[in-house]
Amino acid sequence: MKLSEIWERALFLLSVPKCICCGELLDFEEKALCSSCSEIFNEQKSRNCSRCSRKIPYCTCSNFYLESHYVKKLIKVYRYNSSKPELPGNLLVYCLKHDNRRDAFIRASVELAHSIEAAIDLSENKEYFIITNVPRRHKAILENGYDHAEMIARRIAKILGIEYAQFLVSKTEKPQKEVYGEKRKENAKFDYKKGPERSLKGKTVIIVDDVVTTGSSLAACAALIRGMGTRKIIGAALSIAYKDSYLKPRPSYSR
Ligand SMILES: [Zn+2]
Ligand SMILES: [Zn+2]
Repeated sequence: MKLSEIWERALFLLSVPKCICCGELLDFEEKALCSSCSEIFNEQKSRNCSRCSRKIPYCTCSNFYLESHYVKKLIKVYRYNSSKPELPGNLLVYCLKHDNRRDAFIRASVELAHSIEAAIDLSENKEYFIITNVPRRHKAILENGYDHAEMIARRIAKILGIEYAQFLVSKTEKPQKEVYGEKRKENAKFDYKKGPERSLKGKTVIIVDDVVTTGSSLAACAALIRGMGTRKIIGAALSIAYKDSYLKPRPSYSR
């Protein structure tokens, strides 16, 4: 047994976690969700994309807003269902944001890393890839003590053997979930992080986020990162919450 696994097991025994969905005590191998809640989670993952008809974890379709903002590929794990907050995937996002549970971070990172590996060939030239994340609002970091998207992105970087770096800071004032429609685009504000300038020429940057609702935050970050000379930008979200109608622009009919 590796030292890291002994450490993991010791942490587990110190406080055996409960399923974030039903509250049942978990086995060591079960991360955040018990086996029966994992089955419901797998159903959430097994929906097909209405554009490419692949299962969501294997679909890389972006939406029209992100496509017009340099994010041609969006990797994800499942569809967020705002009408059913009790679904495991929805609870997982809540847990990551507020509970700082090690097993939930492991679960989320392993699942998203798996989708990334399925979408991108990382067998060679790992040095051309960099992982980053949509930075969380300063106020939210103060309230919760951490940036959950950063924690997921850092873990994914370790799993995939890719560099993690952060180039941006959030200047967003209100939480995006309190803002609707077009206002989300105005609310999503970011800026370059202070420090030595860095060129991303020839690099592909993978930007991680928890839920992509319209893509306003991801698009705003992509625009700034693009300004650093990036070759390609790929989005990687744990879940998507936009409607299928958001996949393509509405046709405009002229009379
Ligand atoms: Zn459960
Ligand atoms: Zn698709």
